[in-house]
Amino acid sequence: MQKHQMLIGGQWRDPAGGQWFASENPFTGQAWAEVPRGGAEDVDRAVKAAWDAFRGPWRALSASARGAVLRRFGDLVAENADRLAELESRDNGKLITEMRGQLRYIPQWFYYFGGLADKIEGRVIPIDKPGVFNFTREEPLGVVAAITPWNSPLMLATWKLAPALAAGNTVVWKPSEFSSVSAFAFGELFEQAGFPPGVVNIVTGFGSEIGEALVTHPKVAKVAFTGGDATGQHVYELAARGIKKVTLELGGKSANVVFDDADIDNAVKGAVSGIFAATGQTCIAGSRLLVQRTIHDRFMDKLLTLARTARMGDPLDDATQVGPITTRPQYDKVLGYIEIAKGEGAQCVLGGAAATRRECGEGWFVEPTIFTGVTPAMRIAQEEVFGPVLSVIAFDTDDEAVEIANDTLFGLAAGVWTTSIKRALRMSERLEAGTVWINTYRAVSYMSPFGGYKRSGLGRESGLTAIRDYLQEKSVWIDTNDDVPNPFVMR
Ligand code: NAD
Repeated sequence: MQKHQMLIGGQWRDPAGGQWFASENPFTGQAWAEVPRGGAEDVDRAVKAAWDAFRGPWRALSASARGAVLRRFGDLVAENADRLAELESRDNGKLITEMRGQLRYIPQWFYYFGGLADKIEGRVIPIDKPGVFNFTREEPLGVVAAITPWNSPLMLATWKLAPALAAGNTVVWKPSEFSSVSAFAFGELFEQAGFPPGVVNIVTGFGSEIGEALVTHPKVAKVAFTGGDATGQHVYELAARGIKKVTLELGGKSANVVFDDADIDNAVKGAVSGIFAATGQTCIAGSRLLVQRTIHDRFMDKLLTLARTARMGDPLDDATQVGPITTRPQYDKVLGYIEIAKGEGAQCVLGGAAATRRECGEGWFVEPTIFTGVTPAMRIAQEEVFGPVLSVIAFDTDDEAVEIANDTLFGLAAGVWTTSIKRALRMSERLEAGTVWINTYRAVSYMSPFGGYKRSGLGRESGLTAIRDYLQEKSVWIDTNDDVPNPFVMR
């Protein structure tokens, strides 16, 4: 068992309360690491360290030098990609093949935002008052609290850390209690990259304990949160008390819409990638598959044929395509939703139970599951399952597809499969989602804004837009007139 410490002010420290908890490997179901159970005292130390670093060494660096540290960190992640991928795969059960891909891509966020650090510029305003010069400064916010979920721990932390640091903020990062181990390895690289002590701090523990202490700490200026929508709402309410800035990346119930003029074989692959990749444990999962009725049965035959070939097993095996559910409570939740769907009258045409295949060992596996005959009002069509469970809904017309696709509280992503450019463009406009993929699914980039409409969140991560969420604009006025005007009249 590895025993870890938290990174506070450049030092590895035991939790003030002297308690640790176990992190379990979802493939074996066994505890494999001990994670510090931090609390309010640890948060206070970490935020103070971040505040000191914000006012001191981090601010003293030029923007170009700050960017260089970020890019050096990107290089270190690239050099350590395979090791980090394996740690993450062991801790959260994601496929090693996917994790290697993610870890090789993560450096791009640090290169992109590192490059952006010295391109943050203010404006000169052509002000309407004679003899007055007005310009703006783009300034960092201060200490940013980054709170991340368990499904893509390092990738989702990167989406916050890279823009936050490039903008000149310092960070206290709290990873999920279910997948903290890779954060400690990232922490070692922060030190090697040359971030001054306190610029990035890592605290671990449970959301209700250390997470709340972090969100409510008076010296935290902004909360950047990724997680479930109910937690997100709670965090938003807590942050509101301190008038803190907030970015929320929450859940989804994304529609993947297949029209009868689509390239069917590609659309089938898109449907599988939308729900069974990462075992459906992605916020952008295409968990509602809308299929035009004219091709419904033909499409389902092909989809079932492909889905049946999914290889389950050890996430560290390159051949595995569907891994375990990351946490025991999530495993129970997914199985619970399968029963709800059956109870609602949806027809289970694939899976529909815990996986007992020999290659799944003692892990928390659920069979890739498909329900047909789902209607938009069913809970299985409205609520986020966050597992390998697909709801198929038939539709007749474009208008009906739009109505069903938008009939959800969420608005994170949507997919459209069609060979008509007119239809594709019309759908891209009519779908209420922060991302719309046409003839592809599950594509993200450091260059493109990512975020939710409606209950899926606030703010954007990645792309040029993201850095704005970590800056505040100051307006500076200089009067060049020799005489001070009448003090009793507004200038
Ligand atoms: P979660 O909401 O349970 O936890 C997310 C994080 O919040 C964890 O670090 C947790 O410890 C912390 N937390 C929990 N309670 C807290 C509290 N009271 N105060 C402060 N922090 C608290 O989510 P999860 O189960 O870890 O992740 C799955 C969810 O994340 C899904 O709903 C998924 O859709 C969402 N998600 C969204 C995106 C996105 O970018 N939109 C990406 C990945 C995951």
